[in-house]
Amino acid sequence: MENPVPDYLDEVVTACAPNLRGEPASYIPELAKVDPDRFGLAVATVDGEVYAVGDAEREFTIQSISKAFAYGLAVRERGLSHVLEKIDVEPSGEPFDEISLEEGSGRPLNPMINAGAITAHTLVGDDTTSPQGRVEQIIQLLSDLAGRELSVDEQVWHSEMAASDRNLAIAHMLRSHGIITDSAEDVVDAYSRQCSVLVTARDLAVMAATLANAGVQPVTGKRVFDGDQVRHLLSVMLTCGMYDSAGDWVSSVGIPAKSGVGGGIIGALPGQVGISTFSPRLDRHGNSVRGVAAFERLSKDLGLHLMRVAPPARSVIHSTTVLGEGEEAVRIYHLAGTIGFTGAERVVTRLTEHPPHERRLALDMTGVHSISGIARRMLLEATRRLREDGHEVFLAEGEDVLPSPDPGDGRELEDVPEL
Ligand code: GLU
Repeated sequence: MENPVPDYLDEVVTACAPNLRGEPASYIPELAKVDPDRFGLAVATVDGEVYAVGDAEREFTIQSISKAFAYGLAVRERGLSHVLEKIDVEPSGEPFDEISLEEGSGRPLNPMINAGAITAHTLVGDDTTSPQGRVEQIIQLLSDLAGRELSVDEQVWHSEMAASDRNLAIAHMLRSHGIITDSAEDVVDAYSRQCSVLVTARDLAVMAATLANAGVQPVTGKRVFDGDQVRHLLSVMLTCGMYDSAGDWVSSVGIPAKSGVGGGIIGALPGQVGISTFSPRLDRHGNSVRGVAAFERLSKDLGLHLMRVAPPARSVIHSTTVLGEGEEAVRIYHLAGTIGFTGAERVVTRLTEHPPHERRLALDMTGVHSISGIARRMLLEATRRLREDGHEVFLAEGEDVLPSPDPGDGRELEDVPEL
């Protein structure tokens, strides 16, 4: 059988391709030279499956998408509280290159606008790291995320430097507030190199899938960020990642994302997929027109909106059966799926409101593929209380999801007896 996913993605590209609205970025002259018709789409799952269609293997510069990852690196290396002292996480509602800082503290409003991104860039490494050293660390990080060695497009970098007055102004302003200490010229030089790293949509989809996979690159298996760092980063991407159209994006697409003026967009849906599009024509906010259209379509067709209300966890108790008869009888609760707080709450409520008539009962975990820490504690506490009420409680095949189950009364849960 041929996998239908690439056919579906081709269909999305074909449907969005006729949209020729917008213009490639021109404030960096080299970016204006790109072929505006290029259009690539790639999707990478947290299992490491990568689908790439259209121009998904064409290189372009990462631009502002690098801001998300460099910020993640700063948080990884300096710790979140230190970084928060320098950069806030409030959506600004302003264009990306606005020369604005928070009143009083002088902090940039968030790490996705240039003021915050330039600051985050300087927080990579430690106080002794040179600007060149920072660029190397960032390129290494981006390479780890992509799973291949990435490099800088020197021509785009030169072009960006020739048009860097505004970023220099931002860097000088940051220096005057004591937010950065290096020379404005050195910082903008290094930050522009970060923006000029060449990537493909395929690379970006895998990089986004690393975030979706709680920080582990799904193809190489390398851990790049820890789960808390990813949660923070995705939150900032959701609220601030799409320039000054973040609100529109959240309501129409609902996936944490970051776009760049090179024409790329990434989106990372926790636990599911990383998505990337590449199409150079930009709307007035600086977001790729066809990229936004493709994301809207994918979000709708594939049910990827983060705020989509998932079906309730009603089905956690899949069924119950009774083994044996009389005093020997064991009522077995067959649990299934992923059990979090609400799933465990349903089990506990069922056992409280409809306690089993049988004295002996068992939790069958064979159909459960994961259980959160709190759900595990709730089920073990329920077990302890059922025992206090005079029930005997067993566990069927639970070692993988409920290893060494100790309800806290000193008696481990035993296997269902042979009947
Ligand atoms: N290098 C660009 C700048 O700082 C990145 C802008 C962007 O992609 O939004 O001006």
